[in-house]
Amino acid sequence: MKKFMVLLMLVMIALPVLAEDQAIVQPAADDVQLGTLHALNNVYAVKDEHKTALCACGKEFEVTAETASMNIHGLVMYACGPDCAAKMKNASAEEMIKAITDWEKAFAAKDMASNCMMQDGKKMATCACGGVFEVGAKTPCVVENGMKLNACCDGCTEHVMKASPEERAGMMKKAMYSSEKK
Ligand SMILES: [Zn+2]
Ligand SMILES: [Zn+2]
Repeated sequence: MKKFMVLLMLVMIALPVLAEDQAIVQPAADDVQLGTLHALNNVYAVKDEHKTALCACGKEFEVTAETASMNIHGLVMYACGPDCAAKMKNASAEEMIKAITDWEKAFAAKDMASNCMMQDGKKMATCACGGVFEVGAKTPCVVENGMKLNACCDGCTEHVMKASPEERAGMMKKAMYSSEKK
């Protein structure tokens, strides 16, 4: 009887955790990684030093020295103009979460340079650690300056995110399958 009670308690502890997990992992389109995206800024393309970003309002624009930005828990969000910058500054926490969620969906779907390539019908990536693995819906990825780095595990994700911006840029550039590399 005692054993049963312990089991029951374990189940009761485990259940809410499971439910939470399912809420985080949402069904997504094949190429859209949600809940696993760690964006460090909203730039999705860099070409000849020109940075193109996706504003929270959905507008695509070029980031210049005058572009206003806001740091939202490590995500540097550039605003397309003064109106959006003011909107972001004055947004409530709730409005911000909603805006970021919508933005994340559009941003994750952008065609970006990545460390992913198709091999025998499988989407394979080479992690910053050198490990080769298959990319799935739950693969964590770090995005910065138009580069999407899929990582083999949470440890590698953290390692990349904690690196200095220069180190990270180096790691990401090295891992990318860019047209220059081919
Ligand atoms: Zn905007
Ligand atoms: Zn790794």
